[in-house]
Amino acid sequence: MTSPHHSHHSSHEHADTISQLRDTVKKVCDDFPGEYWREKDRARQYPSEFVQALTDLGLLASLIPEEYGGSGLPLSVGAEILKAIHEFGGNAGACHAQMYTMGTVLRHGTKEQKELYLPKIATGELRLQAFGVTEPTAGSDTTNISTMAVRKGDKYVVNGQKVWTSRAEYSDLMVLLVRTTPKDQVKKRSDGLSVFLVDMREAKGHGMTIKPIRTMVNHSTTEVFFDNLEIPASALVGDEGKGMKYILSGMNAERILIASECIGDARYFIKKARDYACERKVFGRPIGQNQGIQFPIARAYAQMTAANLVTEDAAHRYDRGEDCGTQANLAKLLASEASWYAADNCMQTFGGFAIAEEYDIERKFREARLYQIAPISTNLILSYIGEHELKMPRSY
Ligand SMILES: Cc1cc2nc3c(=O)[nH]c(=O)nc-3n(C[C@H](O)[C@H](O)[C@H](O)COP(=O)(O)OP(=O)(O)OC[C@H]3O[C@@H](n4cnc5c(N)ncnc54)[C@H](O)[C@@H]3O)c2cc1C
Repeated sequence: MTSPHHSHHSSHEHADTISQLRDTVKKVCDDFPGEYWREKDRARQYPSEFVQALTDLGLLASLIPEEYGGSGLPLSVGAEILKAIHEFGGNAGACHAQMYTMGTVLRHGTKEQKELYLPKIATGELRLQAFGVTEPTAGSDTTNISTMAVRKGDKYVVNGQKVWTSRAEYSDLMVLLVRTTPKDQVKKRSDGLSVFLVDMREAKGHGMTIKPIRTMVNHSTTEVFFDNLEIPASALVGDEGKGMKYILSGMNAERILIASECIGDARYFIKKARDYACERKVFGRPIGQNQGIQFPIARAYAQMTAANLVTEDAAHRYDRGEDCGTQANLAKLLASEASWYAADNCMQTFGGFAIAEEYDIERKFREARLYQIAPISTNLILSYIGEHELKMPRSY
């Protein structure tokens, strides 16, 4: 594709699309109320029914081009879907990976890979939910990963380990970043890394082992072990050794989409807090009449609005094909802080009831905290801005 189909649409058409998408998402979320999420949270279960409902409506295929069976929408519109899911009480953490990992296949995959996988991902026949980058030893230092794939004839043999590979048990495909050339044999550490699209249905039990990690939030995250896993050479995405570049190009999309979820969370908390502040009467008047309750909610609204503008700007730049590294990082930083500030003040507004599970605040509070750590932690964003935007010395 030379020019994306959506570039012909006017922003007015997109406003209509967004408003329709928000209505659709709201209806889905209304079918999956707090009770549903509380039950899943308690049992640490994957919300399969919710993900299926989104899939059936084609919402998770919104960024896949029409020629492959998706709706061909720009990132700025796809982001509104995730924003609305969170705003209306759902959690897109169970399925957001499909939106950003798909882009790696779309931009760098072969014609065969795209024709083989994208239409099936669009219908939901194949789930692309697993993204294997982080390793226990390397952490944020991605180019320091040590999982290796060694070419043997028409196959690669993979050995090593990933950690925090979310949704691996509920995915058919995994976008996997590995070394194909050892670190001490490359000029730059970002060289010698490669991306594979691994068919997990064949891999599980044949060299790939998945172990769930029980966590503070219901995120279906796992450790994945590779022990002489054989994958066909045709699973390589793009050129061998250039994988870091492909992963980085997807990360801006990921940051913008996650920032959008945080905006949705902030709106959720602000609405809950505002409604409760108006309705709860103590000392003979609504608690929201006290400035100590009202002002933090107003401030949360101000922070959310500002973060939302930065996030939308990042998404539009991305859609226009412009550099958006700084904007995507700013969006993720500001949105994750806005959602956390809103979460904290929503909790304070609800007083003791915030701690009771049935109000959903404590669960959403736990969930909101994650986004200052993953998919990239705040310090790493600040060092990106310091180094790349403000041209200060690299801090590490
Ligand atoms: C629930 C959950 C789901 C996840 N899902 C996925 C997934 O699907 N796929 C995937 O690949 N990964 C996933 N991750 C991993 C996530 O991307 C990492 O946790 C994150 O990038 C931080 O890496 P780390 O945990 O190794 O922290 P570390 O790199 O060990 O960092 C620890 C702390 O030190 C700080 N720090 C480190 N280096 C510096 C420095 N140079 N300057 C200043 N501060 C520094 C960090 O900011 C952080 O606060 C997930 C993580 C969680 C918790």
